[in-house]
This record gives sequence, C-alpha cells and structure tokens, in this order.
Amino acid sequence: MSSKTLRILFVFAFLWASFGAQKESSAQMRAVGLRAVASIFGQAKTPSLFDPAQLRKIESLSLDLRWPMPTRELVSWPTTDGSPAVDTRRADELWHTLRPWQDTERLLEMYQGRVSRLKKFNPGVQFSRLLAGELLLVWQRDRDVLSRSIGDSTTGFHQDAELMPKGDNYSILYPHRTFGTFYTVSEMVRMLDLFEARYPEASNILIGDISFRLGGKMTPHVSHRSGRDIDFSYPRKDEPVNWKRFQDVNARSIDAEQTLFMIKTLIDSNQVNMIFIDHRLQGALVREAKRQDAPQEWINAVFQYPQSSGTGALVRHSKGHINHMHVRFKCQPTDMYCSL
Ligand SMILES: [Zn+2]
Repeated sequence: MSSKTLRILFVFAFLWASFGAQKESSAQMRAVGLRAVASIFGQAKTPSLFDPAQLRKIESLSLDLRWPMPTRELVSWPTTDGSPAVDTRRADELWHTLRPWQDTERLLEMYQGRVSRLKKFNPGVQFSRLLAGELLLVWQRDRDVLSRSIGDSTTGFHQDAELMPKGDNYSILYPHRTFGTFYTVSEMVRMLDLFEARYPEASNILIGDISFRLGGKMTPHVSHRSGRDIDFSYPRKDEPVNWKRFQDVNARSIDAEQTLFMIKTLIDSNQVNMIFIDHRLQGALVREAKRQDAPQEWINAVFQYPQSSGTGALVRHSKGHINHMHVRFKCQPTDMYCSL
C-alpha cells in the first residue's frame, strides 16, 4: 500500500471517529482518530503559536517577580489601625539563673536599670544576698507599647525593646544582648521561620548580638546601640569546631544557597538598610545568584563584589564578618531622630 493511500485511510479514520460513528462516538474513538492525524502531520511547533516579543515580556515579568529590585526608600511597615500588621512569635518574659560568679551588680550591668525594677519583678528576693542557682525574672514585655529606636546605630539607644524569642532552628548566644526594636526582632523571626520551612535539614544558626535592653555602648561593637543591628552565623555545609561561638566559614564551607535565601527573604521586604558580609564570601553568593538566573542588575544592586568598597550595594564588605553576617534594618516612622 502506498503512503498516499495510507494517509487517505488515516484521514478517513479520523473523520469517521470524529463525526461519522455517532452511535459509538466515544471520546476514546475520537482520541484514536486525532492521534492518527497527528502521526501524519506531526506535532505543531509550540513557539510558533506565540509572538517571541510576548514571550520575552512574560519572561522578564517573571524575573521581576522573582528578583524584585531593592529600593533605598523607606517602605513603611504594614499596619492595621496604627499597629503593626505582623503575625509573629514574640517573647513575653526572660528568666535568669544566677551563676556562682554573678551578683546584683552584674545583673544590673546585664539588664540595665535600677535594682528597684528587679525587686518589683521578684518580690521577696533578697538582692543583697543572692544565691547561685536562683531563678530571677529580669524582663517582661510591656504589651501596651511599641519599641522604638532613638538616634543612629552608633550613638543611639532604644525604648521598650523586644527580646529575641527562642526558636527551633537557632540558638541565642547571650539573651541579655538580644534586645531590639519590634521590627528588627519580628523581621528576623519571619526570616528564620521561612528558612526553617524551606531548609528543615539546615545546620543550627547562632544568634549573636542585637543590643542591650536600653541600648547604648556594646563592646566590642561600634554600632549595635539602637536595636536595629543584628549578628548571626552563616548556614554552613560542614560541622564547626563547636557551636558555642561564631566560627569562620570560607567560600567552600558556607552554604551559599541557604545564605542567599536568608538575604533574599530579608531584603525582599525592603526593610533592610545594609548587610555586612566578608568580600571572600560574597563571591560564592554572587556565583549562587547567577546559578539561580538572577539578573545582573539585581546582583549589582545587592552585592558589592567584585569590588570591595564604594558601590552603594546593600551587601558590603566589613572586616570581621567572615564568621557572621550583620544586618542593619531601616528606621521606621515610629523611631525618633533615627538615621544610619
Ligand atoms: Zn555586628
């Protein structure tokens, strides 16, 4: 049988399946007919159905959605009736177990304020004769006020600070050094919760310093004074020497994918003012961003790399950030005399 005869027979089969055999015109029969015709004429080439210019537009729209350009402008926190519209985990109080070498003076250094404040929290406790192992309430959140940052991050302080709450995927190194504004703490909690959902197998993250309860000078930092700066460890691929303090990472041991997720989650809300990350690690993060098809324009706005100074990018090199990253959040309308 010639191929021409075959084709005619197939077309006839299709017409019969589609229109002729009404009594048995099941979807199955029509499918057989359609497959037969398709086998003769071949599959339609999908791209020919779309205008290439339209395709490019769709592609760039999806890149914009995935890699929104960070803005320098202050994007006010979403509020409902003047209160932050953020559903977040918050710490309500902090208890301190007294160590053998600690006394009232040390407690006042750690939690600031007067002894009368501690006495109010702990009625009946003799602060002149504290005993090791004693459990003391040292902070309670005032539910009627919202914390605010006052002044800039290198000379300022803050009021009614929030405490970084505990979490499953991170440890807090020194709780008395993790007070910040509501926005700083809730942004970190939001990022860490999303991070846990996305990377449940990730290594533990260490939360370092934010600020003291009332802010002010915090050795050894220049900043960390007004509740808008936070240090935390990099996600890593290897096991560190110990989990008691920040340990150095390098371009191989940093988990670049997970770190980029953290950075992106934080900056996508446009509440981040700047991030300090060592130049050597930025290279690994830029390579990861390229692997994920980030547009060059986005990479240039976010990373200083390959330069090591003066590009105005969000992520900058600063000495001492090989074992942790430092995020500074923007001022909020509720803050006072706030600047960088
Ligand atoms: Zn820092």
